Amino acid sequence: MIPVKFDYVRPSSVDDAVRALAEGGEDAKVIAGGQSLLPLLRLRLAYPELLVDIGGLSDLRGVRDEGDSLLIGALTTHDDVMRDPLVATHCGLVAQAAGMVADPAVRHRASLGGALAHADPAADMPAVMMALDAIMMARGPGGERPVSAENFFDDYLTTTLADDEILTGVRVPKLGPGWGYRYEKFHRTAQAWAIVGVAALARRSNGQVAEARIGMANMGPTPVRARAAEVAADGADASRDALRSAAQRADEGTHPPADLHGAADYRRHLARVLTARALAVASGV
Ligand SMILES: Cc1cc2nc3c(=O)[nH]c(=O)nc-3n(C[C@H](O)[C@H](O)[C@H](O)COP(=O)(O)OP(=O)(O)OC[C@H]3O[C@@H](n4cnc5c(N)ncnc54)[C@H](O)[C@@H]3O)c2cc1C
Repeated sequence: MIPVKFDYVRPSSVDDAVRALAEGGEDAKVIAGGQSLLPLLRLRLAYPELLVDIGGLSDLRGVRDEGDSLLIGALTTHDDVMRDPLVATHCGLVAQAAGMVADPAVRHRASLGGALAHADPAADMPAVMMALDAIMMARGPGGERPVSAENFFDDYLTTTLADDEILTGVRVPKLGPGWGYRYEKFHRTAQAWAIVGVAALARRSNGQVAEARIGMANMGPTPVRARAAEVAADGADASRDALRSAAQRADEGTHPPADLHGAADYRRHLARVLTARALAVASGV
């Protein structure tokens, strides 16, 4: 199908892009790699009157070392994220998960910012950012504000970004010594979309898990933390049995969807199995 007619601007600075969004109001939309937005336009599920193309804003591309954290620009593609040496060294979970998104053709166009702003609960990177307690940087007419991942994903395909705000990047804390990580996802052979995805981080000390953090994809209308399993894993022996037992609580408090790829109970089962696997690898068991 052909999209509904729209106006198009390609600003040359972030300020100009924010101004264009503010002028367009709720009828304006940012376009980055277009991998999610273009299909929606073609299906006429979205019909903005103005597209603000941020693809030329090179300031929003790349990875910067900021001391305790990395700032990954919103326009950085998944392919660039998975190959970036800083990300590989300090935030291996982000690199691993980015390499599991879609296929090479999509990863070369799809931006990290687009994946986060689109807020699909089945997407991989939002769950990873939840586990990492990452900070989203939102720029609007009044300047830039940080938003925790927890407060960023608001509802199904909905974030707390205002109509006139652009996601400029995401600040990801560096993982210090003792931390391990793993992203596990279960998907159909023909497609990489997660039926369920689990991002686990664990800090091991003296044969025990001192701290665990778990983010999950497709276990509700937003990405979620598996808080009950985290509490159960904290202080547990770094052994397969102890971690499997903690993972039994992964689906507590979740509201997984039911669709033709899996019933809600099946997703609950997957969440427990994948959490056990991810925690075991993250804890070096
Ligand atoms: C065939 C295929 C397979 C896929 N498989 C997977 C998969 O396995 N796992 C997975 O996680 N994802 C998957 N995806 C989704 C893909 O990761 C996203 O489509 C992509 O990351 C979105 O980024 P984009 O730059 O293309 O965003 P766009 O499509 O340009 O934009 C998406 C949305 O985000 C908004 N937006 C974009 N950038 C910004 C910004 N900087 N500030 C504010 N708003 C912004 C847009 O307004 C729009 O609403 C797949 C997509 C395709 C087409």
